Amino acid sequence: MALQKDEAIVLIKKAYGESDRIVRLFTLSGGKITAIAKGGGKSQRRFMNTLEPFNHIRVEYFKKQTKTMARIENADIIESNSGIDASIKRICTASFFVEFTDKLTKEGEKNIELFKGLNSILNDVKKIEFTSSDIVFHLLRILGCLGFMPNFNTCVHCGKDVPDDEKVFFSRERGGILCPLCSGAQPFKSYPSGIIKGLSSFVRGDRCSGDFDFLTHVQDIMEGFISFHLDVEIKSYRLLKTLI
Ligand SMILES: [Zn+2]
Repeated sequence: MALQKDEAIVLIKKAYGESDRIVRLFTLSGGKITAIAKGGGKSQRRFMNTLEPFNHIRVEYFKKQTKTMARIENADIIESNSGIDASIKRICTASFFVEFTDKLTKEGEKNIELFKGLNSILNDVKKIEFTSSDIVFHLLRILGCLGFMPNFNTCVHCGKDVPDDEKVFFSRERGGILCPLCSGAQPFKSYPSGIIKGLSSFVRGDRCSGDFDFLTHVQDIMEGFISFHLDVEIKSYRLLKTLI
């Protein structure tokens, strides 16, 4: 049982007994792990405030193959979560991305791109209040890291390229757009011209700010897609939605 040294983002922290803490970490080299921090509750002693959610930390831990839980030996802060607590909206935004990552990853699956994506999102949340459009932009980025990106470019039924002005049929069941020809035989919802084109530009990394109407449709597409395919309920989303 070797000591593992890694970087991690703290996703969740829970009390365990009187002075121990259980944390879920997303590590750079080992993916998500659940770990116990002995004495992690006595704030003046071990780990101080290192194991707070959203912190980017350096961690040393032991993990036996047969045991599901790792044991934290040492931890120190690389970058604290300071700034996220500036408003409820920032806390909700950070919670949303952390919960999304937690619910859609399995223990031990390494994903460096996702680690970097989540880390940069949390760093942004420390500095600015995310708009709805920022949230969609970063959500698509995380979905891309997870391999769950909806297809906004080619028809999910026949595979043909769909020109931007014909991108109006989205099938949440099939996870992407349909060309006009295939829309007859597949379940879909239609959206005003420009909505899906806007979403595909987000995927390419172009930020379009989008008005209220655009964002309402985008929200509908993304919520439908996530609830149908990913089978998770992101609890922090409900609160975040009331704030944006
Ligand atoms: Zn088609």
